[in-house]
Amino acid sequence: MADVVAVLDGRYPPAWAEEWDRVGLVLGEPSTGVRRVACVVDVVPETVDEALAAGADMIVAHHPLLLRGVSSVAATTYKGRIVHRLIRADVALYVAHTNADVADPGVSDALAARFGLTGLRPLHRPRPGSAADGPGRGIGRIGELPTPMTLAELTRQAAAVLPVTAWGVRAAGDPGRMVRTLAVSGGSGDSFLAEASVAGVDAFLTADLRHHPAGEHLAAGGPALLDAAHWATERPWLDDLAAHLRAALGVETVVSDLDTDPWTVHAAAPVPTTRSPAREG
Ligand SMILES: [Zn+2]
Repeated sequence: MADVVAVLDGRYPPAWAEEWDRVGLVLGEPSTGVRRVACVVDVVPETVDEALAAGADMIVAHHPLLLRGVSSVAATTYKGRIVHRLIRADVALYVAHTNADVADPGVSDALAARFGLTGLRPLHRPRPGSAADGPGRGIGRIGELPTPMTLAELTRQAAAVLPVTAWGVRAAGDPGRMVRTLAVSGGSGDSFLAEASVAGVDAFLTADLRHHPAGEHLAAGGPALLDAAHWATERPWLDDLAAHLRAALGVETVVSDLDTDPWTVHAAAPVPTTRSPAREG
C-alpha cells in the first residue's frame, strides 16, 4: 500500500489541500499489499458495499469520511460503523479532496473534458507562494466550447454528457444567450461566482448554487449559471484517477457509478413554461 500512497501523494500532494481539509491515508497498514483499488466520490455504506463486493483492498475517495474533530469511531455511529467495516475487511481508505481539485490534471479537468473544452486555464488560482501555487494549478477550469451554443442547448448537452442523476441540470439566465467560453468547477462552486464574472466567461457550470447568490450574480450582469448534481460534477474525475493508478502501479481498479447525490426525486413541469424573473417575488 505504501507505493499506492506514494503515487497518490505524488500526484495530489496533501500540502496542496485547503487548510480546513483533511486528506491522505485515513485507514490502513502501509505494509499491506494492494491488488485492487475502488474509486469513489463518497464513502457511504453503499459504496463500501460495492468496494467489498468487488474485492477491493483499498478505497480512494474524493470526500473526506472524517473532516471535523472526531472523539469516537464506535460502531454505534454512522461513520464509526464504516470505519469498523473497512478495518474488519482489511480495506484501506485514502482521500484526495481539495488537493485533487487544485492539481493539474485535477477534478475539473475531467469535468471540462466532458464538454470538449480547449485552452484550459484555472478559474481560481492558489494564493501566490502557497504550497499549491504552480503552473496550471487551481480550482475550476475555463475553456472554449468546440462549438458555440445557446444556454438552453448547453444545458441539454450538460444533462447528456454528465453522469445521470435525478437532479439533472438546471440553468439560470437567458436561454438564448450564446455561450463560447465556459467555466466549470466540480463540487460546490458558490464561492467562485465573482471570479467567473471577472474572467468574463459566458457561463459557469458547478453544483450547489443558491437562490440569493445566483440571483444577485445574474442581476449584476454575471455569466449564465448551470447547476448540476454535486456527485455528477466530480464522478468524471474517478476515471482519470483510476487510469493513473493502473498506469503507475499496474493495480486493478473499479470505479463506482453509484449516484451518491442526496437528491433522488425530480419532477419537471408537465408543459414547458418560461418565467420572467420580474414576476418572481
Ligand atoms: Zn465535492
